[in-house]
Amino acid sequence: MSDLFDAYPYATRYAVQRALPDVGRDPDQVLAELREMATEEDAVWEQGQCSGTMYCGDHEHYGVLNEAFGMFSHSNALQRDMCPSATRFEGEIIAMALDLMHAEAVTGTTPAGMVTGGGSGSILQAVLAHRDRARATKGIDRPSMVRPDTAHPAFAKAAHLFGLELRTVPVDPDTTVVDPQAMADAIDESTVVIVGSAGNYPYGTIDPIADLGQVALEHDTALHVDACLGGFILPFGEELGYDIPPFDFRVPGVSTISADTHKYGYGLKGSSTVLFRDKETRNASYFLVPEWSGGKYYSPGLEGSRSVGLLAATWTSLVTTGRDGYRAHAKDIFATSAAMQEVVRSHPELRLLGDPTFLFAFTSDEFDIYHVADAMKEHGWRFNGLQYPNALHLAVTRPQTQPGVVERFGRDLAAALAYAKEQTQPPASAAIYGGVPGGLTSDGAEFIGAVMTELLDAQQTVPEP
Ligand SMILES: *Cc1c(COP(=O)(O)O)cnc(C)c1O
Repeated sequence: MSDLFDAYPYATRYAVQRALPDVGRDPDQVLAELREMATEEDAVWEQGQCSGTMYCGDHEHYGVLNEAFGMFSHSNALQRDMCPSATRFEGEIIAMALDLMHAEAVTGTTPAGMVTGGGSGSILQAVLAHRDRARATKGIDRPSMVRPDTAHPAFAKAAHLFGLELRTVPVDPDTTVVDPQAMADAIDESTVVIVGSAGNYPYGTIDPIADLGQVALEHDTALHVDACLGGFILPFGEELGYDIPPFDFRVPGVSTISADTHKYGYGLKGSSTVLFRDKETRNASYFLVPEWSGGKYYSPGLEGSRSVGLLAATWTSLVTTGRDGYRAHAKDIFATSAAMQEVVRSHPELRLLGDPTFLFAFTSDEFDIYHVADAMKEHGWRFNGLQYPNALHLAVTRPQTQPGVVERFGRDLAAALAYAKEQTQPPASAAIYGGVPGGLTSDGAEFIGAVMTELLDAQQTVPEP
């Protein structure tokens, strides 16, 4: 296993904690140790060579959010009598997200929202709401969901957890977006929700949401738009004049939208929004336990206790950035991404996938593109690896908009292509979401499943006594 993942990454530098220390350690010493790790780990992305994940990258902004977090980190959002601030933060976060998604276009119902612990949480909540709403209003008790194969794995997780049949529709390999007719063909009377992405994680492209909205209306089903990634950047791309087709509540048939405050909302990790055209749908997912001996229990989402700190930090991110801040950052990100795509286009042996904006993916028909990832890794670049076909994507974030990064990308990519063309052995990089360990090249579902389990085990290794 050790060749895939180091389960004791700091064992040579710091004592390994195998049990609670008998005597508590000196906080200054502990903080110094943490600072060392954090500073070194930040250096991995600070040069702007890491795809996605550090959407903001501005330590001053993080400092403000951390201060906001610290004031409320110890408060529990369940106890609103003690922290009315949570109600202010949550309501206003939802209001700002609804405004961004053009909830003013909704007629006949009352739009609503929920703050969740992340994009997956928002997707789980939406699917749960559609399942329970369809059961209550249409008596559907064997529900199904239809999604493009580019839809985030959180939809598969939701289907698994909540007992929905999952139907997957392949996307067009050239455009990388789904065909609305193919989606319509997969719908039947059991379908409680269909999915479109704005944009999808693999290619950053936007499914034809207006057509999917029509499909949803014609089949009397719900449409969830996954704007986890694009929700806080695409609206500003639209304002800047980029060709962004509408994907929000202005589109008839859009029922729910997930939009991550912890991605291009530049908030701290652990926060997202899920927005509902119709409050009744949101409320269908509420879980109420009126008769418990511990008291009447209710919590809006999947979590019980939640830190008010994250609500405070998310709210602070939104109000300190403001429309002008988001627009300015989007302008830099869209321009940087366009310039990087131009670099890719200048190499005939590379092929961009679909028609992307802030996140772009490319492959090669001449060699395995993971050789390019291997060579770029030597220069400090970290791409996300895709499969079927093998491809690399770069989600352009604010760290990439620093001066010189596009030029460095051009230089290092040219060198990486020369390297890739010479290779006769399989590459070391592989398609792993959220990480690119070497040495994983074999296919076969069972083997890969076993390796993925080992990787998860290794991430949570308990040091031996
Ligand atoms: C990141 C992402 C998600 C899931 O988000 P988490 O915050 O990692 O749970 C869902 N959909 C898309 C398109 C994403 O990019």
